[in-house]
Amino acid sequence: MSIKIENLTFKYSEGTQFETKALDNINMEIKKGEFIGIIGHTGSGKSTLIQHFNGLMKPEEGDVIVEGKSLKNKKTKLKLIRQTVGLVFQYPEYQLFEETVYQDVAYGPKNLELDEKEIKKRVKYALELVGFDYEEIKDRSPFDLSGGQKRRAAIAGVLAMKPEYLVLDEPTAGLDPAGRNEILGQIEKLHKKSKITVILVSHSMEDIARLVKYIYVLNKGKLHMEGTPKEIYSQSEELKRIGLGVPQIVDIMKELKEKGFEVNTNIFNIQDAKNEILKVIRSNENV
Ligand code: ADP
Ligand code: MG
Repeated sequence: MSIKIENLTFKYSEGTQFETKALDNINMEIKKGEFIGIIGHTGSGKSTLIQHFNGLMKPEEGDVIVEGKSLKNKKTKLKLIRQTVGLVFQYPEYQLFEETVYQDVAYGPKNLELDEKEIKKRVKYALELVGFDYEEIKDRSPFDLSGGQKRRAAIAGVLAMKPEYLVLDEPTAGLDPAGRNEILGQIEKLHKKSKITVILVSHSMEDIARLVKYIYVLNKGKLHMEGTPKEIYSQSEELKRIGLGVPQIVDIMKELKEKGFEVNTNIFNIQDAKNEILKVIRSNENV
């Protein structure tokens, strides 16, 4: 099962002088259970692409096939697709509006017309999945939470719909480093715990590098590259050319190697780099 994108092209304001080709013949397949990243410079088409994943935007040219169901087919029930593919918008906390965290997270399940008991079960499940203590958080006002907490509450609202795919549009945008770590850490945990498919959209290589197993790079509406982090980061010149660059740590490991330290350069995040550097230092001490 998967989300399959076939020859997808999308133009804003088609036929007017403002026509913009936001997506240009995109092909990709995101299989269930994966943790993938979509990266690209601002305006490269990331948000337009992912709004096609759950039918919020309809495929005009090409097709989107979710779990075998074509979004072009009039018989495909969009309500069901939106439940299968949960989309967390950029700055999702702006959509928190209820008096309590409980009510906010319960909003989606209520619309599914579930009974009160099932709603409560789902709210608890979702809040715990993003790392909250249910009893402690449920009656608080969403407006009293920190930036990172607000965002986690908003993500819980989507998780309460029990989607099989979770799409996050720039989930760390506007947060300080502590808030970023909090969010990314929770996303990683929830992927491990619930086995949910995660699609992480970001313009930050540092975010993507930490977590994902496979990367799609968008540039000017086109799928410019795809591959494992190792495959993508080995093309640092090309990434720089399209305004992206590699995570700082990749450059640092390369430099260490060039200076004669026998480090593994196939490393993309700070934690692994630390372990690798310590290993090399310790083995030198033993000589
Ligand atoms: P990203 O999320 O990567 O920043 P977007 O999908 O938002 O990219 O934008 C892709 C292109 O489409 C950009 O050129 C952007 O200016 C344009 N665009 C996005 N939203 C709209 C809109 N509502 N109307 C017209 N053009 C848009
Ligand atoms: Mg965007």
